[in-house]
Amino acid sequence: MSSPFNNGIANPVSFTVSPGKVIYQFNNKNLNTSITYNGGAIVTDCNLELLFWGSFWDTATNPSVGDIIAAVKDILNSPYLSGLEPYGFQSLSFQGSMIIHSPSPGTTYSESDIDNMVWNLIDHGIFNKPQDEDPRTIYMVFAPQTSSFRQNIPGFTVGGEHDGATDVDLILPEVNHAWIAFVNYNNSMDSLMELFTHELVETITDPEPPSGYHDNATTSRTITEIGDYCENFFGWVNGHMVASYYSKTLQGCIVPSFPFIRRISLSVQSQLINSTKVLTDITRPAPPNSFCFSGTYSWTLYNEINTYTFYVDVSTYLDPLIVWQINNNDATAGTIQVPSDLSLDPLFNYEFATLPSYNSEIDVTINNNVLTVTTKNGQAPATIQISCSVNENGLPSEYGTLRQTGIILPVFGWVREMDNRFQQDLKACGEKLYRIVKSGIKQKVKTIPIPIGDPGAKIKIISLVGVREEDQVKIREVLSYADELKEHNAVLAERLRQYAGSLITGGHQNIDQGASAGDGLNSTMLS
Ligand SMILES: [Zn+2]
Repeated sequence: MSSPFNNGIANPVSFTVSPGKVIYQFNNKNLNTSITYNGGAIVTDCNLELLFWGSFWDTATNPSVGDIIAAVKDILNSPYLSGLEPYGFQSLSFQGSMIIHSPSPGTTYSESDIDNMVWNLIDHGIFNKPQDEDPRTIYMVFAPQTSSFRQNIPGFTVGGEHDGATDVDLILPEVNHAWIAFVNYNNSMDSLMELFTHELVETITDPEPPSGYHDNATTSRTITEIGDYCENFFGWVNGHMVASYYSKTLQGCIVPSFPFIRRISLSVQSQLINSTKVLTDITRPAPPNSFCFSGTYSWTLYNEINTYTFYVDVSTYLDPLIVWQINNNDATAGTIQVPSDLSLDPLFNYEFATLPSYNSEIDVTINNNVLTVTTKNGQAPATIQISCSVNENGLPSEYGTLRQTGIILPVFGWVREMDNRFQQDLKACGEKLYRIVKSGIKQKVKTIPIPIGDPGAKIKIISLVGVREEDQVKIREVLSYADELKEHNAVLAERLRQYAGSLITGGHQNIDQGASAGDGLNSTMLS
């Protein structure tokens, strides 16, 4: 559909949420109507029969008969009609559809021509007589492009009408009503569905006008019904444009719609493009009096080019507006500098060296919902935070369609592979530290509120990828200890932070495809 968004209405001022539906209301609360019930027929449970009038519909395209039927079913399968319940309405079922060749429409038609066409079908036994039906049928006629409505009032184009067409039985002295509505042809599916829904809600609440719900006051009409009050307002359900209608309980024009289901998920795949061994069997003695290390270790250094492809799934958005960020700055394509993170390099862990800080270069490309980061040969490893926020393009902020998510990821332009003895010593030392600290600090549990339904608060989920699940838990825990220790024992805090880094490094060879940041429903925030 051409509408910029799936559900709801433009510029709603309020919405009421009840199970399974959201009712959007326009800024016309306390709309002054005197819509009253006039004692006649009301639709409670009913069937809907679509009648496509004329052979025009045999070959019609854009829209075709199939397009219209599908749209009508989408609308009936939405909560759109649920706002009619205060008028006594309960349900409407799709009964069927038919292309009517005979009687055929002329070059012009009037409302009574439509009524006669439907009664002709009833009289010929195609449909049951209204008085024999339970539940009753609403006949909705779609006029052909090849025939025009001839009762337009000057300055006022009729889009459709409905009435309780009477048929006077000549033998038995009774008057029967068929509930008939029609929609003039329009090649815009949006307009067609807006007209259809307008006539439908009015037929349901006033099937035999003027005995149902209406108001007497108006300019170009004899009566004003629930769609007429709201004919300048429209909305969307299930991707289709619909007319809003007057709610006597909410006292305004409403569009009952689906709750928002927009959510995003971010995933990343890494690929090693190139690896070159640049140094091999370099040795280095452990510093004296080391807490963790002893003897001499050796290592091999590889220069690497890695590509990390971030993909955000925005399939629940109709027209997503995506903003990517790297380390909390709006991302731009090209070569950028990010701070290196030498805690990802085992040589700089623990007592071997203090961490110098400098920048690493990475290449960035952006193509809608895909962002790629490519490291450069020989650039120091870095920990980058990729985040993206997605909004429905052109939708007012009241809709709350903004979703945010992010991934923290170590990226490598070089990889230093220490010998096995070093790996074992590092692990053992980290575990030792971890246990010491763990026994001394009470675990602190942080919770973040998870919004349910919509419009949702914005949430940010950060996850480490390429690291085993159990290591992720441990890393989070270690980092939270480090955070807590920072003010009391900065050295120990830094060692813990490096230990957490070493767990990431340990996972590097296994950074693997498709790790996901989740969909926002139950992730933990890592700050
Ligand atoms: Zn109307």
